[in-house]
This record gives sequence, structure tokens and C-alpha cells, in this order.
Amino acid sequence: MNTAIEFLPARCDVLIVGAGPAGAAAAITLARAGLDVVIVDQHAFPRDKVCGDGLIPDAHQALAKLGVLTQVMQQARMANFLTCTSPRGKRLDIEGQLAVLPRKQLDDIVCRAAVAAGARMFAPLRFTELLEEDDRVVGARLRQGSQALDVLATWVILATGAVPAALIAAKMSRRQGPSAVAMRCYIKNEAMADELTQLEVIFHKSLAPGYGWIFPCGQGVFNIGVGVFNVGGGLLGHRATARSTVADTNLRDMFDKLPGLSDSARRLISGGEQLGPLKGAPLRCTLEGALLARPGLLVTGEAAGSTYALTGEGIGKAMETGMLAGESILLAPRLGEAQARSHYQSQIDALRPRFKLYERAQLFSLHPWLADIVIWRARKSPRLRQRLSGILNETSNPGQLFTLKGLVRLLTQ
Ligand SMILES: Cc1cc2nc3c(=O)[nH]c(=O)nc-3n(C[C@H](O)[C@H](O)[C@H](O)COP(=O)(O)OP(=O)(O)OC[C@H]3O[C@@H](n4cnc5c(N)ncnc54)[C@H](O)[C@@H]3O)c2cc1C
Repeated sequence: MNTAIEFLPARCDVLIVGAGPAGAAAAITLARAGLDVVIVDQHAFPRDKVCGDGLIPDAHQALAKLGVLTQVMQQARMANFLTCTSPRGKRLDIEGQLAVLPRKQLDDIVCRAAVAAGARMFAPLRFTELLEEDDRVVGARLRQGSQALDVLATWVILATGAVPAALIAAKMSRRQGPSAVAMRCYIKNEAMADELTQLEVIFHKSLAPGYGWIFPCGQGVFNIGVGVFNVGGGLLGHRATARSTVADTNLRDMFDKLPGLSDSARRLISGGEQLGPLKGAPLRCTLEGALLARPGLLVTGEAAGSTYALTGEGIGKAMETGMLAGESILLAPRLGEAQARSHYQSQIDALRPRFKLYERAQLFSLHPWLADIVIWRARKSPRLRQRLSGILNETSNPGQLFTLKGLVRLLTQ
């Protein structure tokens, strides 16, 4: 996988920077179509990635499209429910096709599929700057230690995730601060393996605007963490002032509150053994904060903000946008380079309404009593439970559920 850099070619059709789910999905799409693809990452694989490791239905669909779902599910811990705990301690199970697999394993599987499809992977190699001719990107400068290497490419794809350094170097960043930050660790507690079998999220006012989670990875190991979002508002029909909660929050303090808020968290932590340190990372959400394209260059995955606000789920949409980047490049010989770029732009624009709904729904985490209302109503209403499951599975549109009108209807139905 991590081919020695003396074999790094001087030129290729597509150079992909970042071998996370977005970059690897783009690589699979392009390499299967016969293009000469080089994928690089600053870390040697397999590598850890700070994440909740939860695979929601959109990730299942993307993995199926990439042809690796069966392989992933052989290693993953599968689940059928997302259990939401309200601030008042009420629980609601939302049905969905779910799974958990540590990113060290997941990303390795997807990357190996890219290599099996014909992409060549080189790591560790860090992207530092674009190579340009007139206004066009014609390649990238990569570094290993003090050694700099230039690779020319017809297209460069930046799939560098939520840390904005590469975007800034490529002059594609429109926002340096993250949309959210989150922190997690792994805990081994075999005694709870048969008890905590579903994905669990915990809403509480002392975690607002954010939430905690416990996701079972299998073999008695659990991913447990907390995340907090910058919330702009808009749900109640007016634009609330953006609160810079990300900058003001101490995630470790937030994590330490979890045992007091959730009996599962308390027993998991007190009776378990922590594996490795508690680690934090930023998230970029709502398809905002970056330019998507310029001649010779596409930005995809979380670098393009492809993670959902409210939930912080982003693995599925990273792969989906990565595939869209690959498919758009494949149109270039027929439609021309500029049309391929605008195709990509329009495909991403088509995803925006759903991302906007998740952004609006963040008021649920800002005002967790709203979660109390929804959970209280849903426990009594199979129709509402079905609707929430439809949203999770992306088979139905949230519509007005996350608006003032939608909430009033919810209370009066
Ligand atoms: C704590 C936390 C919990 C989360 N939980 C979940 C969850 O449970 N489910 C879910 O769906 N999503 C979750 N997410 C979001 C998810 O992690 C991201 O949406 C997803 O990783 C985005 O994939 P990506 O391929 O765009 O970026 P990444 O997975 O971040 O991959 C980017 C790659 O680019 C490489 N790179 C960056 N800069 C350079 C450079 N200059 N040169 C070379 N390589 C570079 C990095 O090393 C990395 O391998 C969570 C995020 C956090 C922080």
C-alpha cells in the first residue's frame, strides 16, 4: 500500500491528496474507469482517525456503491437502532441500518480497494502547495521530511478533511475555524458487551449545543465521546447570533460530565479500561467554508464541509462527494474541463437543502428541551418514529419537522 516514494511518478491523470473516505472513494471511481490515479496521505496507513466510527445508512449505501460493504460488515459491529436519551432521561429507539468500525480498519479497507482498482498510493507524503500555470492547477508539491517532490496531474483533488491547512495553502479556504469539535476515546468493558449493543446518543443541557455518544465497536470495546457545535440559528424563523461555543468549550470537562448524565456511561467508564488517550479533532459542516473548484482542481469530502451539522456524521457524505468528484472528472473528455467542474458544483448544490435542514436542526442541541418534546411525542406516535427513521435512512425528507411550523404541528397532531 505505502509504495516507496522513489516510485512516485512525475505525472498522472489525477492526483488525490488525502486517503480518508472521500479521497479513497474518488480514487476507486477514477481508477475503475481506467485513469492513472495517484493518492497520497501525510500519514502511513493504516492510521488512526479521531471519529465516533459510526456508520449510518448513507455510509452503508456509499460502501455498497464502492463494492466494499460486505468486507466492511465482516469486521464491523452491526446495529439496528440509534437510541436517543433525552435530557429527562427518556429513551427513544430510531430504527436504521447502522454499524460501527474503527476508522483505522474502515479507511484501510476503502484505501485497499482503491489500490486494488489500480490507484497507486504513497504515504507518508504531505501536500504543501499547488503547482500552477497561468490560472490552472497542473499538479502539487509534496514533502517527505525535507525532501520536496513535484507531481504533475491533469486534475488534483483535495480531500484533506477538516484541518484547513491544505485548503489554506491551496487558497481554497473561506473559513479557518471549525464548525464543531469533538473528542473520544475507546473503553474496553467486556461485561457490558451484551448490554450496550446499539448506538446511543445523549442529549442534555449541560452538553448543549452538542451531545455525547456511546458506540459499540464489538469485542467489548466502545467508542465514547462528546462533541460541541457552533450554532447559528434560523429554526424559529429569525437568525440568531452565531455563538462561538467551539472556542469557549473545554471538551475534557464536557466528557467528564458524561457519567453523571448517563447510567450507561457511568458503568462503562467505572468498570472499564481506557484504551489509549482521549483525542479531539475539528469538524467542517454544512458544505460551507471552502471553494469547491477551480481549473484543474476539485475540493471534496470534509474539506468541502461535507459533514452534517447537529449529528457530526460525515463518513457517508465524504464518500458520496468523493464519488461525485470522480464522476465529474470522468465527464471532462466528453464535456470539457469547465463543464466537468460546473457539473461537480451542481451535484454538490443538489445536496445543500438536506445539509441546511441539519444546520437548522441544531437548535435541538442548543435547546435540548426540544429533544425532550420530540422524544416524548415519538414514544407515543409510531408515525413520528417511522418518520424519524426515514430521516435517518434518508428515505424521507425532514420537510418542515425542524421548523417552528413543524414543531407546532408535532405538538398539536
Ligand atoms: C470526534 C469525531 C467523531 C466523529 N464521529 C463520526 C461518526 O461517528 N460517524 C460519521 O459518519 N462521522 C463522524 N465524524 C466525522 C468524520 O470523521 C468525517 O466526516 C470524515 O472523516 C470525513 O472524511 P474525509 O475523507 O473528508 O476526511 P478525513 O477522514 O479527515 O481524511 C482526510 C485525510 O487527508 C489527509 N491529509 C490532510 N492534510 C494533508 C496534507 N497536507 N497532505 C497529505 N494528506 C493530508 C489526512 O491525513 C487524512 O487521512 C466524526 C468526527 C470527529 C472529529
